[in-house]
Amino acid sequence: MVENLMDKIVSLCKRRGFIFQGSEIYGGLANTWDYGPYGVELKNNLKKAWWKANVQERNDILGMDCAILMHPKVWEASGHVHNFFDLKSDCKNCKKRFKSADLKDPTKCPECSGQLTEARPFNLMFKTYQGPVEETGNEIHLRPETAQGMFVNFLNILDARHPKLPFGLAQIGKSFRNEITPGNFTFRTREFEQMEIEYFVNPQDADQALSEWIQSRFNWYLNLGIKSENLRKRQHGKDELAHYAHACMDIEYRFPFFATNHGESAENRGGGWAELEGVANRSDFDLKQHAQYSGKDLQYFDDLKKEKFYPYIIEPSGGVDRAVLAFLIDAYQEEKVKDDTRVVLKLNKELAPVKVAILPLLRNRPEIVELAKNISRDLKKSWMAVYDDTGSIGKLYRRQDEVGTLYCVTVDVQTLEDKQVTVRSRDTMLQERINIEGLKSYLIEKLT
Ligand code: ATP
Repeated sequence: MVENLMDKIVSLCKRRGFIFQGSEIYGGLANTWDYGPYGVELKNNLKKAWWKANVQERNDILGMDCAILMHPKVWEASGHVHNFFDLKSDCKNCKKRFKSADLKDPTKCPECSGQLTEARPFNLMFKTYQGPVEETGNEIHLRPETAQGMFVNFLNILDARHPKLPFGLAQIGKSFRNEITPGNFTFRTREFEQMEIEYFVNPQDADQALSEWIQSRFNWYLNLGIKSENLRKRQHGKDELAHYAHACMDIEYRFPFFATNHGESAENRGGGWAELEGVANRSDFDLKQHAQYSGKDLQYFDDLKKEKFYPYIIEPSGGVDRAVLAFLIDAYQEEKVKDDTRVVLKLNKELAPVKVAILPLLRNRPEIVELAKNISRDLKKSWMAVYDDTGSIGKLYRRQDEVGTLYCVTVDVQTLEDKQVTVRSRDTMLQERINIEGLKSYLIEKLT
């Protein structure tokens, strides 16, 4: 039943153009995914909502967009060269590779029962070469997190904007990790997008800031429509903390897939719960390390107290793709309507890829088609709107429900006479006749 839900979501994503298998016509490149027309709208809306809540609406956070390629010393200073490892074990029989933490029995292959090799460290950073000569001196890494770009710009930001503590930097961008066991659709991939905030605070305020950020980030998911029974917080145990972290709280979503996983996956605590976002107290580790490796003074000067110190950093770090997946799963509903089943994505109005669809009732009546196209052109200036005349009205409604379109506007024969259209709400399925002249204000009221 649960597996079924994921199958349905993956199939809807492909059928309707949310997410496709990467390089599909070549047989696909495992665990790569391409966002289609609706997927990219959903993803952009999610990023916009994050940026609005965390940058636009706050006085204390500044946005950034840093390079993916960084100086090799960054990854030495950050600890990624020495500490960014997962332990892996290979099956001597079927040659499959496993993350040691996921194994119930570290000696036996969970797929074929063959003998496993000893657990060996495997660095998760992607390596490539800068410039035309492929030699060790030109080795460079694709960033495994966006955070470091913000740490290494700490001084630039102090000089350019003179912010006072507490203040934060925010960034959305791609990260790359050579994961040993990617999978579960877009949940774990090797190329993914992160949305991260690095919030610099006086060390004595760190605990308070950490709890405020945990609550703020938790509420963000709820406010955008995640059902409260599917969201929880989970404190990291001492053994789980990253080398730089003093404390960390995960915000977890109840994904359908882990519940049916074989074995005792590390991700399977409580069955189905898995990390959406981590909120960590990174202490002063990062700034101290970059100060040491770069030789630059990265302390903050408090001009009231006339003292210099390294701020602590509170980091809410979430995955864009993982969040998109959680919102898709949470919004998916099947409803009985008479003898039929209506599939509807009840995405929140901020996230829904399309806000309004304009549908002519009769596509062989040029006056109706022309009027519908004119209305659509006008609405497109304000919202993501689509025009569709490729089926019967029942089919068109069903198609829009499946992608979560909030309102459908139908132009019919009557419209030519009374200049009114039928507006149907996705959630209530109720229909209202609205004057074309008043349509925009009607939608503004509904959508704002
Ligand atoms: P996990 O325990 O799932 O590997 P992590 O603790 O290593 O995640 P972080 O380093 O805290 O993850 O990264 C912050 C966020 O980035 C995660 O909460 C997740 O949403 C996202 N993320 C991390 N790795 C991946 C990945 N391989 N694919 C998709 N999203 C990812």
